[in-house]
Amino acid sequence: MTDAAGGDQWVRAVAADGQIRVLAARTTGTVETARRRHGTAPTATAALGRVLTAAALLAVLLKDDQKLTLRILGDGPLGGLVADGLPDGRVRGYVQHPDVHLPLRPDGKLDVGGAVGRRGTISVTRDLGLREPYTGSALLVSGEIGEDLTAYLWQSEQTPSLVSLGVLVNPDGSVRAAGGLLVQLLPGADPEWARRLEANARSLAGISRRVDDGLSPAGMAERVLEGFDSRILAEGEVRFACGCSRARVEGLLAALGREELTRMLEEDGGAELTCRFCGERYNFGADDLRRLLLREA
Ligand SMILES: [Zn+2]
Repeated sequence: MTDAAGGDQWVRAVAADGQIRVLAARTTGTVETARRRHGTAPTATAALGRVLTAAALLAVLLKDDQKLTLRILGDGPLGGLVADGLPDGRVRGYVQHPDVHLPLRPDGKLDVGGAVGRRGTISVTRDLGLREPYTGSALLVSGEIGEDLTAYLWQSEQTPSLVSLGVLVNPDGSVRAAGGLLVQLLPGADPEWARRLEANARSLAGISRRVDDGLSPAGMAERVLEGFDSRILAEGEVRFACGCSRARVEGLLAALGREELTRMLEEDGGAELTCRFCGERYNFGADDLRRLLLREA
């Protein structure tokens, strides 16, 4: 499936001779597409939106034929969250229990940490086109996803990072604004810079509100890098898109084998398969199954 682009964007910026790296994205349309496709309740929308945004930010650093998967598995009611990211800004993902909604926190925010759970793991798999994909993981810190990703990047990849992810949901459940920011200090960076970057990042706290105010990804990068000599290196579109297709699903169906196909034909008169990543439904009628059986013969 592919949905129309929603005007979402990412930028990659550097400062201090490349020793500071910044990725920023607006993902409002992407997260709204995910909400509609999976029918997520507000707390689940916020959690899935943060995971999709994080995957988009991390994937921008990959090379053309590489891909990345971010997984969060906590002990809260949402169950697992999974998002795939590609370097061209395409993301897709799902949450195990999309209907989860918890009461708002005392500060009025959606209780993502409570829904994800505070115990569990975060893992990132990078498929770099080598024989084995590389997976790193860390324990969850708060289930808020931004903090968990910060801990992961430090513990598993030894990169000091500042992560901010946010999704603002309208009273009717639709997505009002979503976005994220990732700032990283690369080897050779002056540790003193971390304090200045943190101070700058404070003006971007509540990042979904800043997106709602109209702040662009370039504007986010500019603000967090205030006082540093910085430049934008690359930018592109972010969108929710899944690589599934009727042909691919038909291949999976055929792989079930004669016995199972015959059972489906006789008992159900057809088959309906739903893509876990994007919620797209593929229907195969009795004639489709007969055709597959003939091909199998
Ligand atoms: Zn799909």
